[in-house]
Amino acid sequence: MRFGIGYDIHQLIQNRPLIIGGVKIDFELGLKGHSDADVLVHAIIDALLGSLALGDIGTHFPDNDEKFKNIDSLKLLKEVKDLIDKQGYKINNIDSNIIAQKPKMAPHIEQMRENIASVLNIELNQISIKAKTNEHQDSVGNLMSIVSNAIVSVERK
Ligand code: ZN
Repeated sequence: MRFGIGYDIHQLIQNRPLIIGGVKIDFELGLKGHSDADVLVHAIIDALLGSLALGDIGTHFPDNDEKFKNIDSLKLLKEVKDLIDKQGYKINNIDSNIIAQKPKMAPHIEQMRENIASVLNIELNQISIKAKTNEHQDSVGNLMSIVSNAIVSVERK
């Protein structure tokens, strides 16, 4: 069995959609980024790549490449899943955090889990997503950014 961890942070700005876990969340601010800036999916991608020492999201999907501009990060997640498959590994489980002061994540967590489980072809009980605020501290607590982290375990098929 092998493990990987992932971390991501994106700046919250105006005039961008807020997309987390493949869910478009109604909010006055959105995440800045070259892709759709899906902070949760990016953390999970980095954890998956890390579990097999395959580099990181930036090496696979460079943020100066036009083809990744505003791309749906679930598509990138699918590419990484195929890479894991090719290496002869399967995903055991994923645990993750979204740290956001606002908006409330709870109403969207089930849909996020379904989106991710469907792309990765795993069961809902293999993907955990937890949400926290940052108790009004630091950039996250002051609505300037959203953070996500993830851990995965994989094993040989
Ligand atoms: Zn990111």
